[in-house]
Amino acid sequence: MVIIAKPYAIKFYKSKQWKQTREYILRRDNYLCVMCGEVAEEIHHVIHLKPDNIDDVSISLGEGNLQSLCRTCHFNQHRVDRGIVHIEEEYKFDEQGYIIKDNSSIIKDTVI
Ligand SMILES: [Zn+2]
Ligand SMILES: [Zn+2]
Repeated sequence: MVIIAKPYAIKFYKSKQWKQTREYILRRDNYLCVMCGEVAEEIHHVIHLKPDNIDDVSISLGEGNLQSLCRTCHFNQHRVDRGIVHIEEEYKFDEQGYIIKDNSSIIKDTVI
């Protein structure tokens, strides 16, 4: 399973601010998933990023809106939040959490 970014979020996830914030949140959570205690791999936005809130730094970069999650819990969290899994654009994250392009069409979750 792969968590991917919507096209409008690509620029944000490539930004230096995000990479710094991401590191900060992982360190804050001791690199552990806040749900299950496994090694955290991804950062979840509790209030999901949308085109109309991505410029709001309290949501996109706010500590209170960010959680370290392992890939499984992150995926599950989005299923819980949205009830569906979409086939989406061809972006995904590498092990460092950076966006990489993926040309294969796999089933993907929608927003990070
Ligand atoms: Zn998420
Ligand atoms: Zn977990």
